[in-house]
Parts: sequence; C-alpha cells; structure tokens
Amino acid sequence: MLNVETLTKWMTNFENRIADQKDHLTELDRVIGDSDHGNNMERGVNAIKAAFEKTPPTDDLAQDFKTIAMAMLSKVGGASGPLYGTAFLEMAKLAKTDTDFGDLVEAAAKGIAKRGQAKPGDKTMLDVWAPAADLIKQNKLTAAAIDKLVEATKPMTAKRGRASYLGEKSVGHIDPGAASTGELLKAYLDAKA
Ligand code: ADP
Ligand code: MG
Repeated sequence: MLNVETLTKWMTNFENRIADQKDHLTELDRVIGDSDHGNNMERGVNAIKAAFEKTPPTDDLAQDFKTIAMAMLSKVGGASGPLYGTAFLEMAKLAKTDTDFGDLVEAAAKGIAKRGQAKPGDKTMLDVWAPAADLIKQNKLTAAAIDKLVEATKPMTAKRGRASYLGEKSVGHIDPGAASTGELLKAYLDAKA
C-alpha cells in the first residue's frame, strides 16, 4: 500500500529525474514531435513541487493525488499535461478506497486510454502505463523491465498524438511520453527501496 512518505519521496525523485532527463525528452520529441516534451515535463514537476509547498502532502492520499493532478492540468500545455493530469485524477478517485500501487497504476492507465482514445501498441505513454500495472501486480516491476517497455515503443507506428502525423516515419524512435512515464516509474522504485 502506498503511504504519504513514499508518495512524497516519489514526487521528489520524479522532479530530480525530469531535471536530469529534460534534454533527452526534448530530443526524443524533436525527432517525432515538436521538441517541447522536456519543457512540458519540467513545468509539470515544478508545478507539483510548488503545489506541495503550498499544500503539503498528508495521509489523505486522495487529496495528495488531486493536488498533483491539478498542478499538471493547470500548468502543463500540450497533450501530456491533460493526460498526466487524468492519470493522477484517476489515482485520486481510487485512493479514497484503495491505495494498492498496482491498482492505482491500472486506474491511471485506463484513464489515459479513455482520455487519449489510445490503445496498446499506438506508441504512446499508455504502452508503459498499462503493462507496468500488470508487472507491479506480479511484483516484477524493475528498472530493467521499465527500460524494456520504453524501448518497445521504438518499432511501433504512432497512431495517436503528434507523432501519428509522421505515420511509418515514426518507426525506429522511442515515444517521448513513454520515456517520461519510465522516469515516473523509476522514481517510484527508488522511493520505495
Ligand atoms: P504535444 O504532443 O502536445 O507536443 P508533449 O510533447 O508534451 O505534447 O507529449 C507528447 C506525448 O504525449 C507523446 O509522446 C505520447 O506519449 C503522449 N500522447 C500524445 N497524444 C496521446 C494520446 N492521444 N493518447 C495517449 N498518449 C498521448
Ligand atoms: Mg511535444
């Protein structure tokens, strides 16, 4: 079960990882998008940090996730802001009754699929969120497993979002949102370690 200590560490780790990977995310988005994913994610984690300074996380995880969701929704433009916002809002809803991490990630994945009209294999962040939920439930989520999910977006043809405009030309490149989701999940692994 997720608790407030782990959630707080998770978000701090996420902020650090995004700061570290910002240029890489921008580069991935330069190749099959519009070069703003690093900036969008940086704006997102800075907004989460500011929101938690104003409203510190408490044992009420539903409220904590809502704070995170609102920060992403209100401060991040592009496709990724509303999608991450939806993911955290779904976790907020579920956390009222269930704080099992696998269940939370599963709820987030379902929210992203609905909001983005995305299916597995469409070469989006969903291709990390959805299989990660299964791996967590089987106690098999490791950094290596996360890298594998991110890499697996390479041969896919983008069917959703900006990269879909490229069609077959999107093949051979990692999806930026899949890469940032990988950072979010690694941040969690480090937090609970
Ligand atoms: P934008 O595409 O508006 O420039 P970002 O660059 O911040 O926004 O985010 C792009 C990422 O968002 C993609 O790499 C992909 O993972 C994700 N994404 C975009 N559209 C969708 C969608 N319809 N469903 C799921 N994920 C999507
Ligand atoms: Mg972009």
